[in-house]
Amino acid sequence: MIRQAKGKTPRRPPPKKPSNNQKDPVGVYCRVRPLGADDEECCIEVISNTTIQLHAPDGLKANRNGEYKETQYSFKKVFGIKTSQRELFEDVAKPLVEDLIHCKNGLLFTYGVTGSGKTHTMTGSPGQGGLLPRSLDMIFNSIGPYQAKRYVFKPDDKNGMEVQNQVDALLDRQKRDSQTTVPKTPTTRRIDPEFADMISPEEACKADGVDEDSSYSVFVSYIEIYNNYIYDLLEETPFDPIKPKPPQSKILREDQNHNMYVAGCTEVEVKSTEEAFEVFWRGQKKRRIANTQLNRESSRSHSVFIVKLAQAPLDADGDNVLQDKNQVNVSQLCLVDLAGSERTSRTRAEGSRLREAGNINQSLMTLRTCIEVLRENQMCGTNKMVPYRDSKVTHLFKNYFDGEGKVRMVVCVNPKADDYEETLLVMRFAEMTQEVEVARPVDRPICGFAAGRRQRNQAFKEELTRRLEERGGPVDGEFPTVLNQLLQSFPPLPPCEISGPNDDVTLPRLIEALEKRHKIRQMMIEEYNKTANMLKSVLQEQDSNILSKENFIQEQRGKLGEKDKMIQNQKNEIDRLEKKSKMLEYKIDILQKTTNIYEEDKRSLQQELESREQRLQRELSEKRRMESRMQGMVTDAKLKWEKECERRVNAKQLEMQNKLWVKDEKLKQLKAIVTEGKTENRQPQRPSREKDKVPPKRSASPSPVPTGPPVRPLHRRSHSAGGERWVDHKPTSNVDLDTVLQPNIPNAIKVNAPNEKALSKCDKYVLTHQEVASDGEIQTKLIKGEVFKTRGGGQSVQFTDIETLKQENPVAASRKRRSSETDPDGEPMEGDWTDVETRCSVAVEMRAGSNLGPGYQHHGYPK
Ligand code: ADP
Ligand code: MG
Repeated sequence: MIRQAKGKTPRRPPPKKPSNNQKDPVGVYCRVRPLGADDEECCIEVISNTTIQLHAPDGLKANRNGEYKETQYSFKKVFGIKTSQRELFEDVAKPLVEDLIHCKNGLLFTYGVTGSGKTHTMTGSPGQGGLLPRSLDMIFNSIGPYQAKRYVFKPDDKNGMEVQNQVDALLDRQKRDSQTTVPKTPTTRRIDPEFADMISPEEACKADGVDEDSSYSVFVSYIEIYNNYIYDLLEETPFDPIKPKPPQSKILREDQNHNMYVAGCTEVEVKSTEEAFEVFWRGQKKRRIANTQLNRESSRSHSVFIVKLAQAPLDADGDNVLQDKNQVNVSQLCLVDLAGSERTSRTRAEGSRLREAGNINQSLMTLRTCIEVLRENQMCGTNKMVPYRDSKVTHLFKNYFDGEGKVRMVVCVNPKADDYEETLLVMRFAEMTQEVEVARPVDRPICGFAAGRRQRNQAFKEELTRRLEERGGPVDGEFPTVLNQLLQSFPPLPPCEISGPNDDVTLPRLIEALEKRHKIRQMMIEEYNKTANMLKSVLQEQDSNILSKENFIQEQRGKLGEKDKMIQNQKNEIDRLEKKSKMLEYKIDILQKTTNIYEEDKRSLQQELESREQRLQRELSEKRRMESRMQGMVTDAKLKWEKECERRVNAKQLEMQNKLWVKDEKLKQLKAIVTEGKTENRQPQRPSREKDKVPPKRSASPSPVPTGPPVRPLHRRSHSAGGERWVDHKPTSNVDLDTVLQPNIPNAIKVNAPNEKALSKCDKYVLTHQEVASDGEIQTKLIKGEVFKTRGGGQSVQFTDIETLKQENPVAASRKRRSSETDPDGEPMEGDWTDVETRCSVAVEMRAGSNLGPGYQHHGYPK
């Protein structure tokens, strides 16, 4: 809202803006135009009414990767290709027009690549009017009946607005009418076909809540910013076809309220949509002509159409505009069609054109930078300087971004693949712009007059007209009755017929009566004025009451807004915390899972450990058992071996004794032979049996041996003694020797091999054994023993005596020894000894029931 300061007061700091902490983000809308006839590839998809998705065209995807994946951009609203101009207007521009009418400023610009539909959106075409003609139409539909007469409002040259008095305004109007060049009033002029049918009447819309007690006037300006120069498109310059004058650029100034304006810019007061649009069209034409003449491209310039709405309250009578500059409110709506946002490379410009392109780029770049800095300041609480002054466009609109009204942007996009890269940049900028917040404009304060003035004034005027028409007729209704009563309260007029030229009575009486009436009237007027003043003061009091209430409400609203903001912040915080907690929950989940896995591992490892321990235990006990078994076995074996050793020692001892005995025997025999040579034919004498007595302990058999069996002396020819029975054992291998005396044992059982049956029947045993003696002669030995019954039921023989029968041959000494046993080495054999000795040393044991002879049970060990 551009508030007017008193014209005559010196420059003063701008009036403090009503405190307002509420802010709104820049509203960014996206409009997608349909593909052109020649464009095949589409790189944009509308995926919801707030989001679009860009995907790189095939050609680009191949070149780079990563950067060209699908990207989504969200806006306040996205308008697809089927969106009508009206729908767009309803959403985007209508609220701005409503604001304009309620004294608030607005800025609306279209942004996008050349050919993306900026001009189509802003201006449109016949039958498809854009935001601009529709906005104008809505303005006039809303304020139409409340418009002030032309020239009542008059712009000063300092961006302010004055209220002219009736007479000056009338004079100006007359002057205008006399100028033929100025287009005629809307009712009489013909509509240019170029902009006819921009809006169909059924699409007309109207703002609500228009203050009827105000008077309105609309002023439009149209400027172009080209190459960072500002040109006034509505400036009336005498056209010289021979030497056209180049247009003069304008400069930007700051008014008393620090608002920026184009100094000396034409502001045309317009009274209807058609008139306004006609002015716009005039500017367009001028622009086109200038572009053609100067060889410029319109896509490189920014065009700014400014609609200013001046409004001031009607005076107390509701008749005229209040003649108070302080009460004039001016709001403005800027409609900007920005230059195409393409990069220099794409414009294929060279030389001065390149510079131009650079400047366009520069001004859009500055816009970008400003928005970025603003955003950063707002988001991070920094206070960086926003470089508005770097370009004319941003400089002109600086107040909007600093909080002087609503800002909206329509981002136009052409979905064709060629534009992809530039569209990407446009989208990024547009999305970022949404993060900038602009202070919400506050409602204007109330002027202080009672509402409904215009209505009352209207009603009064109507009544007066009616009354004039019905002059003299009967009066009805409340108002005429009061008037009648009033009239009747006056003293009646005396007869006023003058009787003659010298009538001194009638006239003075009439004069007196009239004076009386005059006095009464004066009194009544005074009374009326008093009452009116009283009423006025009451009303004013009430108005101020209302005003303070309004202010209070405003304040409360502000507070409410703050609270809202706080709530919003807290909500955001809650959201953030919720997200965080979700994240943490997720992490906990993962950790839990990890813990479970570890626990599982631990459990399985423990189980394994336990099983291994058990196995170890088992093996240990097994080992111990084995050890004890081994111990047992060892002791067993030790015992066995000890016994065995003892047995063997005994056997050995026996054997050695036997050997000793045999040798002794031989020695004795030799002795006998030696002595026999001295006593002729004397039979060799066997030494005393007592001497040959076998040692009592001869049996090595484990079987119990009867201790010390009596050894009876045996004779060479033994005879059967009484009841003795003999087993006569003669091996079949024996040779019959006639030369030797054979023992004749009566009643003997002759056997070739000893057997148990025979042994069991006898108590004596004799073995006839032949062997070759050392001199080569066969000697026969009679080995005798006694048969004992063993405890096991078998038979055991204990040898007691050996008799040797030998055939003596004197030449035998030279005879070659005949070996009975195979002895290939011819070594002296001791087998003869051994055999006898062995047999003698061995006790033959027959087990009861055994079929085998004692030979088989022989316990002797070979040498
Ligand atoms: P810009 O001003 O961005 O350079 P224009 O508004 O001149 O683009 O649009 C270029 C062409 O595309 C015009 O012929 C226009 O009629 C057409 N066009 C743009 N937007 C639309 C739309 N939404 N629907 C139909 N045609 C469109
Ligand atoms: Mg355009």
